[in-house]
Amino acid sequence: MYNYLDTTTTIVATATATGGAVAVVRLSGKDAITIADKMFRGKHKLSESKGYTLHYGTIVNGCGEVVDDVVVALFCAPHSYTGDDTVEITLHGSEYITSEVIRLAIEYGATMATPGEFTRRAFLAGKMDLSRAEAVADIIASDSRWSHNIASTQMRGGYSEKLSELRGELLILCSLLELELDFSEEDVEFADRTTLRQTLNTITAQIECLKSSFALGNVIKNGVNVAIVGKPNVGKSTLLNVLVGDDRAMVSDIAGTTRDSIEATTTIDGIRYRFVDTAGIHATDDTLEKMGIDRSYRAISNAHIILHLASTEEPEFEIIEKDDNQHYIKVINKIDRITSSDFSDTNDVIKISAKSGFGIDTLRHRLRKITDTSQLGAGSIVVSNMRHYSALNSASEALMDARRGMDMNIPSDLLSEDIHRVLHHLGEITGEITSEDILQSIFSKFCIGK
Ligand code: GDP
Repeated sequence: MYNYLDTTTTIVATATATGGAVAVVRLSGKDAITIADKMFRGKHKLSESKGYTLHYGTIVNGCGEVVDDVVVALFCAPHSYTGDDTVEITLHGSEYITSEVIRLAIEYGATMATPGEFTRRAFLAGKMDLSRAEAVADIIASDSRWSHNIASTQMRGGYSEKLSELRGELLILCSLLELELDFSEEDVEFADRTTLRQTLNTITAQIECLKSSFALGNVIKNGVNVAIVGKPNVGKSTLLNVLVGDDRAMVSDIAGTTRDSIEATTTIDGIRYRFVDTAGIHATDDTLEKMGIDRSYRAISNAHIILHLASTEEPEFEIIEKDDNQHYIKVINKIDRITSSDFSDTNDVIKISAKSGFGIDTLRHRLRKITDTSQLGAGSIVVSNMRHYSALNSASEALMDARRGMDMNIPSDLLSEDIHRVLHHLGEITGEITSEDILQSIFSKFCIGK
């Protein structure tokens, strides 16, 4: 069975995506340098060179044939990403060359790395805690300024520092409470209850603050879902196309052309928006259309923002069921068809012409205003990971138990138990508390080579 904690083998994988001009093959583990030396011909042997050096040379196969001209970067343990000896071979980005180099590495003793194995080894070697390791995947996946900002702060350890600060305070409380147990005969209180209560209140407030940042963190990381809804032919597909600047949705005069939901994304001022052009919701006997309409209902229930479109031909907004936490924007399209006197201005309706582009910037601005990023600055801590959010929730419940327990004057050992639960859940985020299952679920989402 595969052992997630094993770091004794030497692993190899391509660290770059296919199709680039150059590619990097990475080898890491105790035999990385010996294996690389078997295929690398340069001025010096890698095993006789210092770490943090670059070496120009060639890779040769078992028959002595040159596979490619390469540059090798050498990192010696413990000063590498994984903490083990690591060799990064930069070569021409041909699939044949990379697979040949990987084949040679495997022939000389390496094993193919599993997804995220380099980062997992970095975690196991204590090079980074779990939340920072997870941020590595987030930074690779980041596709907007703000998702990069959050991942970058997390990767640089801002979040870990905050959590270890909280854990540090809790550990002091626990040790004072446990000291009381050692002196239980003497009925002493080492942990002053007023200070204890204040500390628990402060930590609760800080955890609540981290929890409440998740709503923003989640939309920044995963994008804001916007469902474009409205009767057939009001211009939903045309609007989606103009918003994402692409001909994604089919546009036609025939009502019901959009039989299924069409999705497209675009970035507005550093935030990703995922627009779903829902199939027009109307009564129909057509099975295909019915399926599309069902999906529309699903898209609407998953939306952060419902963009309700009507047109100057049919300016009424039919009633749409929505949750209280969903934002709702009314838009009237085809404004180009009328003279301004035909249509009076109202504040809560945005008037646009998806065809001419009139009002589209105002609409973009309204969409962007809904995601308030004003509190985000360099280094601000925002939780964007569901696993962390769930651990914070559990920590918060345990804190609540501790505070309730204090109200009821529970004995020190029970109080200490509750605080230990808080420590446990905070430790799950940073990886002080972990299991093979958690590691497997986190690192299996990484790409191979990272
Ligand atoms: P959907 O069924 O709501 O997705 O509507 P479509 O986007 O397919 O558009 C239906 C028709 O309205 C097409 O002929 C579009 O060219 C037309 N249309 C869409 N937007 C506008 C607009 O702003 N002005 C005018 N005059 N026609 C529009």
